[in-house]
Amino acid sequence: MRLLVTGGAGFIGSNFIRYILQNYASYQIVNLDALTYAGNPENVRDVESSDRYHFIRGRIEDPKAVTEAMVGADAVVHFAAESHVDRSIEDATPFLVTNVLGTEVLLDAARKMRVRRFLHVSTDEVYGSLGLNGYFTEESPLRPRSPYAASKAAADHLVQAYAIMYELPVVIARPSNAFGPYQYPEKFIPLLVTNALDDRTLPIYGTGENVREWVYVQDLCRAFDLLLHEGRPGQAYNVGGQAGAANLEVARLILGLLGKPGSLITFVPDRPGHDFRYALDSGIMKRELGWEPTVCLEEGLKQVVAWYEDRRDWWERVKERLQRESRGYWS
Ligand code: NAD
Repeated sequence: MRLLVTGGAGFIGSNFIRYILQNYASYQIVNLDALTYAGNPENVRDVESSDRYHFIRGRIEDPKAVTEAMVGADAVVHFAAESHVDRSIEDATPFLVTNVLGTEVLLDAARKMRVRRFLHVSTDEVYGSLGLNGYFTEESPLRPRSPYAASKAAADHLVQAYAIMYELPVVIARPSNAFGPYQYPEKFIPLLVTNALDDRTLPIYGTGENVREWVYVQDLCRAFDLLLHEGRPGQAYNVGGQAGAANLEVARLILGLLGKPGSLITFVPDRPGHDFRYALDSGIMKRELGWEPTVCLEEGLKQVVAWYEDRRDWWERVKERLQRESRGYWS
């Protein structure tokens, strides 16, 4: 099988490429990635010498680049996105260009080139925010509350429209918050881990009560594998973690693992419109595909902390750039 993976130089995409090359000896992968600030060739350094892997630098909203990259592809696995909510609050335009227009260009090419499977990677954020109770199912209405989530919801609608209008064999994955190796250190867990490693403060929005459901990236890759091969065309699938945790709890777990003091935690003004809680009912993944997350938050954090301790070479360069740009809470 020949796969076109978009955004494969980012966090989840690079883990997925590694997973597929390890688990499917005959699969070929083309990785189409624009190498934006979030894309890093080092994330795929270990696979670039493989003759089953081919990298193309290009943008998904560029029809020419997409058509070239899709030649001969049996399936598309679409990760490429602008993915950071805080950046979307500052400027939504790149989110619309990549997440909406880019997805449309990919869908259009997939339709014309008769691709046999289009796995679209969406997010739980398309559903909006929950209070203390309840879960989102795949039937929940899409009520996005940030420009990032709105752009992802627009893409989901396009994907579903292509399934109906053109019978394109699409499958949508809606994962909860992911964590693991190679995650860009502007995101919550790697930001906290790398700041703690350097005895810097851990910035926590508001009171730290916001709840997220964390899913380990290896569990996600297994879910994407199942969805790629066995997902029902036209269906959306929630892919959630084992349990929700408040941001403050995650910060305390990280400090505990590193033996650092609680005094490093610093509360900062809340993100505007900050979604309070996401929680997914992932029952369809379990019933149809037998998938369940296997790595709990505590175990995943142990692995993540060990990885970031070991890979200073990887994250220090990235953080230096963030600090030069004076972005966010990186001091
Ligand atoms: P990321 O920001 O780490 O990586 C995104 C990748 O896409 C980068 O390599 C970047 O260079 C590339 N890219 C961006 N714009 C592009 C364009 N116009 N053309 C080609 N490539 C482009 O993202 P991630 O965390 O790996 O997320 C991957 C996907 O999973 C996204 O669609 C995201 O919405 C979704 N998702 C992420 C999470 C999470 O917690 N990380 C949770 C749910 C869903």
